Order: sequence, then structure tokens, then C-alpha cells
Amino acid sequence: MEWGISMIDRIQKSDAEWREILSPEQYQVCRCDNTEAPHTGKYTHCKETGIYTCACCGQELFDSSAKYDSGSGWPSYWQPIDASKVSEKTDYTNSTTRTEVLCSRCDAHLGHVFSDGPKPTGLRYCINSIALELKERG
Ligand code: FE
Repeated sequence: MEWGISMIDRIQKSDAEWREILSPEQYQVCRCDNTEAPHTGKYTHCKETGIYTCACCGQELFDSSAKYDSGSGWPSYWQPIDASKVSEKTDYTNSTTRTEVLCSRCDAHLGHVFSDGPKPTGLRYCINSIALELKERG
């Protein structure tokens, strides 16, 4: 492996290709940075065990063991499966500064990360349900 080349097998598609694969709602959130309304997503209160994968490309993102109830109305995690699975970008929209979280493989917009999470990381990955697909264990 060449130095500086990511080990992640990147996925890049045109907007037209993503529109074909995703539902209109998924396209709006994952490819246009929209946010699903709070308390509406299917995983907000989900307690099943498994791996939450990227709805766009299938990359494994969050383990259910790192999921907790933040009360925000969106599924929340205190860490990704591995730091390499997500990338971060400063987001200046909505008159505030937030840290956007994206899938490192396909650049899907997942949500945002905040520093008011529980121990041990103190982080709150606030993720749109519609950007995720849970692969249940067992
Ligand atoms: Fe992805």
C-alpha cells in the first residue's frame, strides 16, 4: 500500500445514480445534507443488537453496543465502530458551527457529532435513521 492512499475502497456515484438507488427521502438526507424530522426515524428507540451500516454503500458504521438514548429524537451513538469509518467536516449552515459526520466510503451525509455525549468518549453522534440500515445479529 502506498503511503497516503486510504485502505477504504471508495464508492463514488453521480447524483443520477444515487437517485436510482435511494428513496427520495434517503436522497434528500444522505446526498443533500437534509435532516429527518426528530422522533420520526425508525431507529431512534431501536434496542435490537447488531451493526448499523451505511444505507448508501453498506459500510459498517456503528455497533448497537455504542447506542444510547440521548433524548434528542435521533439515534445516538458515543462512538463509531472505527474512526476510519466516518469522516468529519465543519458545517456552518443554520447560523451555527457544527461538525458534520459523513460515511468515509461514499461521503453520505449521516448527521452531526457533538461533545455532550456520555462517557467514555463524551461524544454524541446524532445520526439520521434513514441514513442507516441495521444488520441484526444472530
Ligand atoms: Fe457509505
